[in-house]
Amino acid sequence: MEKGRDAYCSECQVGVPYLGSATYFTWIDDELITVPDFPCWICDVCGKRDWDSHALMQLNLLLSPNAGKVQQKRRPLSTAEPEKKPDETIRRKPLR
Ligand SMILES: [Zn+2]
Repeated sequence: MEKGRDAYCSECQVGVPYLGSATYFTWIDDELITVPDFPCWICDVCGKRDWDSHALMQLNLLLSPNAGKVQQKRRPLSTAEPEKKPDETIRRKPLR
């Protein structure tokens, strides 16, 4: 869903971003990944680049092997993990 994109540039408020492309850089662990011709919105006034959110999502799915999976927390080696006390909920009296 790409609806609701501002008509004007969020940076300068006067430029109108157009869909272009640029080389996208990202780091995965210690590797620099470059993606040429990656779609992005470029402001025609200030030149602010805004990566296309849909394309970015697709790329992230491709790049991250654990995409969509819940990341597991590392357990401490010491097994005795103190049990969490249930949070005391603040009870509010209904306002009338
Ligand atoms: Zn701009």
